[in-house]
Amino acid sequence: MERIVVTGGAGFLGSNLCRYLLERGDEVVALDNLVTGSEENIAELFGQPGFSFTNQDVSNHIWVPGPVDAIMHLASPASPVDFEKIPIQIMKVGGMGTHNCLGLARAKGAKFHLNSTSEVYGDPLVHPQPETYWGNVNPIGPRGVYDEAKRFAEAMTLAYHRKHQIDVRIVRTFNTYGPLMRPDDGRVVSNFITQALRGEALTIYGDGTQTRSFCYVTDQIEGQLALLDSSYVGPVNIGNDVEFTMLELAENVVDITNSSGGIVHLPLPEDDPTQRKPDLTVANRELGWHPKVPLREGLEKTTEYFASKLGI
Ligand code: UDP
Repeated sequence: MERIVVTGGAGFLGSNLCRYLLERGDEVVALDNLVTGSEENIAELFGQPGFSFTNQDVSNHIWVPGPVDAIMHLASPASPVDFEKIPIQIMKVGGMGTHNCLGLARAKGAKFHLNSTSEVYGDPLVHPQPETYWGNVNPIGPRGVYDEAKRFAEAMTLAYHRKHQIDVRIVRTFNTYGPLMRPDDGRVVSNFITQALRGEALTIYGDGTQTRSFCYVTDQIEGQLALLDSSYVGPVNIGNDVEFTMLELAENVVDITNSSGGIVHLPLPEDDPTQRKPDLTVANRELGWHPKVPLREGLEKTTEYFASKLGI
C-alpha cells in the first residue's frame, strides 16, 4: 500500500484514477482547484477509508502533510475549448504547477509521475508517433499554451531527474474518453454523444477526414499504473492505436444512439492536427501493456453514462 497524491483528482482522468488506486488498496490524497474538475466526480469517494481531498491550486503552493510515496500530476484543463478560455491558467499549471509538484516530490522523497500528452507532437509529420519524434508544434497558436506547457513540464521533470535524482515517469496520453467526462467539455466524443442524445445535429469540424485514436479510460488508467509501477523513466505513449476519422466516429455514435439529428459541418479550428495515432512499441515492450476496449464498446458505455448524467 502506498500513499499517492493525485493532482487534478476531481477531473475526468484523475477521478477515475483515484477509484483504481483506492480499489488496489492505496491511500489517495486528491488535490484539485475545481476549475474544470468537479466534486460530483468524487462524491462517492468521500468517507471511503484512505481517501482525502483538498481544494488547492497546485500552480500556487502545495501543502500535503505526512509521508508521500508518489505524486501523480494530472492537473490541467485539457480541452481545446479551455485553451481559448483559460490559456494563462493552463500555462501556469503545466509550468509552475509541475515545478511545485516536483518540489513536493523532492521534499518527500517521492516518485513523480507526469501526465503529459500527445499534443507534444503538435500536428505530427511522422505517423504513427513514436516517443522519439520531437513534434511539430506551433508555439504561438491557440493550442500552443497547452502543448508548450506540457513540453516545458516534460523538460522540467527530466531536469529534476538529472539534477536531483528524482524517480520520474512521463506518460503521453492520447485522446481518452469514458465515464466522468464533462458533458460540456467541447471535445469530440462528449460533443457527439450529447448532441446525439438530445436529437441535435453532430458538429463535424472541417470535412471530418482528420483522424484520432480514442482510448477508453480503463485502458488509459491501467497503462498509467503499469508505468508508475515500472522502472521506466523515459516518456511512454499510452493510447489506442486504432485510428478513426471524425466521420467514422460520428457514424458510430449515430448508430449507437439511433440519432435522427443528422450532421452539420463547421469550420476546422486553427492548428487542428490532421492525424494522430500512437506508436505503442515502447508501452508493449516495457510495460507489457496494450489497450483492450474497442471503440464501439467504449462508446456504448460512455453513452450510458451521459444518458444517465443528463437524465435522457
Ligand atoms: N471535433 C469535431 N467536432 C466537435 C469537436 C471536435 O469534429 O464537436 C474534431 C476536432 O476538430 C478534432 C477532433 O474532433 O479534429 C478531436 O477533437 P478534440 O477536441 O476531442 O481533441 P483534440 O483535438 O485535442 O485531439
